[in-house]
Amino acid sequence: MNPMISSVETASAAVERSLAGRIGSFLDGRIETGSGADIGLIVAATGETFARFADGGPEGALAVLESSLRGAATWAATDAFERAAILRRVSAAVEAHAEELALLESATVGKALRDARAEVAKVVEMFGYYSGWADKVMGQTIPVPGDWHTYTERVPYGVVVAITPWNAPLFTAGWNSAAPLAAGNAVILKPSEFTPLSTLRLAQIAHEAGLPEGVFNVAVGAGATVGAALTTDERVGKVSFIGSVPTGRRVGVAAAQTGIPTVLELGGKSANIVFADADLDRAADGAIAAIFSGAGQSCVAGSRLLVQREIHDELIARVAERASKLRLGDPLDPSTEIGPIITRPQFETVRTLIDRGIRDGARRVTSDALPAAITASHLSGGHWVLPTLLEGVAPSNALETTEVFGPVVGADVFDTEEEAIARANGTRFGLAGAVWTENVARAHHVARSVRAGTFWVNAYKTIHVAVPFGGFGDSGHGRSSGPGFIDEYTQPKAVWVPTRAAGAPFPSLSY
Ligand code: NAD
Repeated sequence: MNPMISSVETASAAVERSLAGRIGSFLDGRIETGSGADIGLIVAATGETFARFADGGPEGALAVLESSLRGAATWAATDAFERAAILRRVSAAVEAHAEELALLESATVGKALRDARAEVAKVVEMFGYYSGWADKVMGQTIPVPGDWHTYTERVPYGVVVAITPWNAPLFTAGWNSAAPLAAGNAVILKPSEFTPLSTLRLAQIAHEAGLPEGVFNVAVGAGATVGAALTTDERVGKVSFIGSVPTGRRVGVAAAQTGIPTVLELGGKSANIVFADADLDRAADGAIAAIFSGAGQSCVAGSRLLVQREIHDELIARVAERASKLRLGDPLDPSTEIGPIITRPQFETVRTLIDRGIRDGARRVTSDALPAAITASHLSGGHWVLPTLLEGVAPSNALETTEVFGPVVGADVFDTEEEAIARANGTRFGLAGAVWTENVARAHHVARSVRAGTFWVNAYKTIHVAVPFGGFGDSGHGRSSGPGFIDEYTQPKAVWVPTRAAGAPFPSLSY
């Protein structure tokens, strides 16, 4: 068997190699298979089922939570320097297992191997970065009137439930676990039921690297069973959710009704704005990376390309030419640039939305004929969508405001700076965006005016764990990454100590 061919055999071999073939929830350092509904896992590149596992169910989720409550107590009592050292070891262990993790992710999720490798490297970076913070979570000494020594300590929430989507399972598992762990919390990862495997392996590796039992658990199963149980149990300290807007809202309401605070990282419909004075080759390259990397299954995807009239036709031609050269193919082939759509339902959604956009008046610029390398190969049954550029996507088009979450970019023309800004701000999302221009004042004006949690000037899609990330509006609230994790994953406790001399009147600042 050629190990670089996506197939049921390759995916099964990866599950065997990494997890000894066992799929279940990870708690107390071991995998426990569930007893709920049967869930099938699919090779996205071929459409075939390669594994099945049992949903953990609400009871399974609660067993994971019990373990995590014990883990939270252990972790909170662990010296901060020891926590930092363990997280450093986790980073090193993920690096040591990088190729195994990348192959597992690529073979079982359908992510292009080059993207999977890059994402594993990011997870190494995340644990490395947060290991550096774990022994630097500090309170403050606060001057107040009178004879008082008043200070704050930062107190972890206890158990943080991190719910993640299918588009970047390993990346989001690292993104939403390294920070809460560094802050002293135990974490329960609830990965998407479509893609639980790399998260399971990450938890195993972290445990082997020294994370005590129960500190990093994984609860596998559907949102309606496992996810719902974990967001409605008052013993949970905080929920961090990455996923779609409708589910995020449901999770936010359920958690709020139970008194659990949330961080929500939701979808986007980001505008990539190109002015006539831009470096057009760089802007065209940027537009390609913005939407087509990861086959567009990215929350920050630049799915709206707004182009100033003078250069509209030229830029569209350059983007279309580059799009037609992107290598669609077997995710395990290291030269593949675009893999399949990861889930079957999402595949149907993307095709429906392309048709809808065209019905609403958009014109297809790129081809929709899949290459023979796909149609006449073992990949013919996979979830393939060609990089798709549509022009004439007017504000009234459904594609202007609906997140496609696939390799589909809708372009349109604008004349003035203010028009471009108004158009960029014309959706309820506010996750990301970019401007391409050589005019410094314009770059800063547009960056300041577009309502988005992340904005790039003459660049797209760069993110780093040191920099805050999150959305405005429908794209969510709260921030992950960066030093702000201390506010996100701990609460301040104020301590008042009188320092008056013995016998002096009690210093009063009563409420
Ligand atoms: P989704 O909302 O369908 O599912 C996300 C997670 O929520 C899954 O683990 C799912 O099992 C769980 N879930 C579903 N119902 C639940 C419930 N009632 N209670 C608790 N958990 C529940 O999202 P998806 O389709 O997996 O991912 C795609 C979406 O994720 C896109 O909208 C994308 O933009 C978004 N996303 C956002 C970011 C970001 O950082 N802003 C990053 C990646 C993906």
